[in-house]
Amino acid sequence: MRIWIFDFDGTLSPIVADRNAAVLHPACAAMLKELSRSSNNRVAVLSSRKFEDILPRVPLDNVIIGGNSGMEWQLPGKIRVSPGTGKEKTLQTRRQELMPLIETLGNKPGIEIEDKQWSVAIHLKKSEQAGQENAINAITTWAERENIPLHRGPNVLEIQLLAGFNKSVGVSFLADLLKVDTQKDSLIYAGDDENDAVAMKWVLLNGGTAIMVGSRLDVPEADYVPDQQTLVDMVRMLQKQ
Ligand SMILES: [Mg+2]
Repeated sequence: MRIWIFDFDGTLSPIVADRNAAVLHPACAAMLKELSRSSNNRVAVLSSRKFEDILPRVPLDNVIIGGNSGMEWQLPGKIRVSPGTGKEKTLQTRRQELMPLIETLGNKPGIEIEDKQWSVAIHLKKSEQAGQENAINAITTWAERENIPLHRGPNVLEIQLLAGFNKSVGVSFLADLLKVDTQKDSLIYAGDDENDAVAMKWVLLNGGTAIMVGSRLDVPEADYVPDQQTLVDMVRMLQKQ
């Protein structure tokens, strides 16, 4: 069995100024369809977007969808699963503690806070750069001091509210769910930001393949491609191996 996991923004979809306008690249949509037709493949899209946000962006029946960095999953047949089940109380306590601080820190021009329940995205609007640097510095310093995991992406800072949760935890949850045997099965992960980089490291440790799309983030042993079309070409090549 081969398990293909793709991040959405910047990986299957070109980065756009308005995140609400992001769509699946047509060549990537065709690739997902093609991969999911083979019974030897499991195909998943793992996004840090809210589950309700990512779901309609990938309208493909046989593709597994993970929202909130893998806190919520939908398997083919519309079966919903979450590694967060039973952790709602911890999350609520954490939210009460952190949300007022995040809102204060993010209440600056050019900054938009997106509450995604399990995580918070701090979006940096390209058009209003004045004041952003101070806000970014304040948020990064605060996160470092409080030991809060922060992932940087293009024009976004991502805070995981549940301590220790990131896409590598999401991927390992999916691997357990699919009963992946890393001795026999192979994992292929494609992504573009820091949250993907931790998942890639997990995949590489488990004998898999990692593809970094349009980014120079350093992940030793990852393959690098410049854009969506070259990602598709590389996936087709791997599929033939
Ligand atoms: Mg991305």
